[in-house]
Amino acid sequence: MNKNSTLTPFRFRNVSDKLLLTNEIGKFSFYSDDLMSRFYDDELSSGEIDSLKQQSIIVEDSEQWKLLSLLRNTRNATKSDSEKLSYLMVIPTLRCDLSCSYCQVSRAPINAKGFDWSEDNLEMFDGFIKSNGSNGMKIEFQGGEPTLRIDLLERIIEISESYFTDLEFVICTNLVTISDDLRKLLEKSNLVISTSIDGPESTMTANRTEDTSVSKAVIENVKWVIDNYGHSKLSALPTIATDQIDHPEKVIDYYRSLGFRSIFLRPVNYQGFARKSYKELSQQIESWQKFWLQAMNHILKISKDDYFEEFYLGTLVRSIFADRASGFVDYASPANYASHYCVIDHDGTIFPTDESRMLSRTRQIDLSIGNLEKGLDREIISRLNFNAIHHTNEDCLHCAYLPYCGIDIIDDLSRYERFDISKTTSWHCQKHIFLFDFIFEKVANWDVEWLKLFNSWIHRSQNTSDALQIFK
Ligand code: SF4
Repeated sequence: MNKNSTLTPFRFRNVSDKLLLTNEIGKFSFYSDDLMSRFYDDELSSGEIDSLKQQSIIVEDSEQWKLLSLLRNTRNATKSDSEKLSYLMVIPTLRCDLSCSYCQVSRAPINAKGFDWSEDNLEMFDGFIKSNGSNGMKIEFQGGEPTLRIDLLERIIEISESYFTDLEFVICTNLVTISDDLRKLLEKSNLVISTSIDGPESTMTANRTEDTSVSKAVIENVKWVIDNYGHSKLSALPTIATDQIDHPEKVIDYYRSLGFRSIFLRPVNYQGFARKSYKELSQQIESWQKFWLQAMNHILKISKDDYFEEFYLGTLVRSIFADRASGFVDYASPANYASHYCVIDHDGTIFPTDESRMLSRTRQIDLSIGNLEKGLDREIISRLNFNAIHHTNEDCLHCAYLPYCGIDIIDDLSRYERFDISKTTSWHCQKHIFLFDFIFEKVANWDVEWLKLFNSWIHRSQNTSDALQIFK
């Protein structure tokens, strides 16, 4: 390296038999695995020096603009673009007509009193959304079962639309029943529904409904929505529990039989009330990885004839190679809690994420950041945010995957009751290292079959050109 040049921060990791180097903003390249020793002995080849210059790791004095460009991109990647909410989750009621075995938030019995939004909450919501909402935002109704209070949903929609245009609403419902009022609401073009389908009727009965006739009704209602409005009206999520962990093909094939082209494979979440009965399973990262690899190989086979995506891996692939932000609050750094996302509970308490609501309900830790009456508590939010940045964490700081990764201190709190643990021992880190290694091994080995699949996910279409330059 000549004296008239600067070295910018970079990180490295062995992937297959190569050395992966990433720069500060995630520009990557592969080198031979003895690069670092030759780097310090000043024995790099001219080709290697050129490649390091291309990554802006070596910057010539005559190319100072590269430093400014790096600085600007780093700043853009870490700053929050707006103080206004772009996503709001609302819990109009905690009551539910089901009692799923891993219900994470507990739920209140269907006839319980005091678990619905009050008239006062509605009035205060008016002021809250007026000052914190934004045009184009998404409002998601969670529960409990939000369709038990369609009247509240209608009022919240009406209030929000009186201040903002171009809103999108999502009702997360168990789809046990579709009432006439829900049918009417479904006519709204800016309203979609999201539901949980763990697999065929037998799985639904074991995991959720405990009643075959209810499982049948749910599946019939799913088909009714698809038949009447198409797949764009409905998204579905499975939760993978004990019975399914050895058979990923079953749930994937079931989703395909319903016409879905994507699946989001999630293990039971080690949070809230779920941890009581599924504690072991949710901590067994190895069995999850085995399940996941089996699932991916099945998806690879499917993709020879049809488009099919695993949503989370697809999100990572797009964010690495196409530079698209994920939108997950637990997959960002800084997490910027409450700057673009928050959750309003059934009693008007505000939380930074849904997971933090669960931790508070189980009395593990109070992570509330305000309420509808008093608004957001900026002091608590900044204390949370101070710790929710991986760029200053001693493990992440040296990790080649830092530019693509996030931080999840709420998951750490849930599993380990503190977040000042070594990140490399955490579930969040082990999961992401595993996924990033999976992706970069395919690139390092130039595994064309997988790269074509990643390419289809980036373009969200099977009919893409076979040009794989995006992975170079
Ligand atoms: S959490 Fe793990 S994978 Fe992510 S940046 Fe930190 S060390 Fe790397």
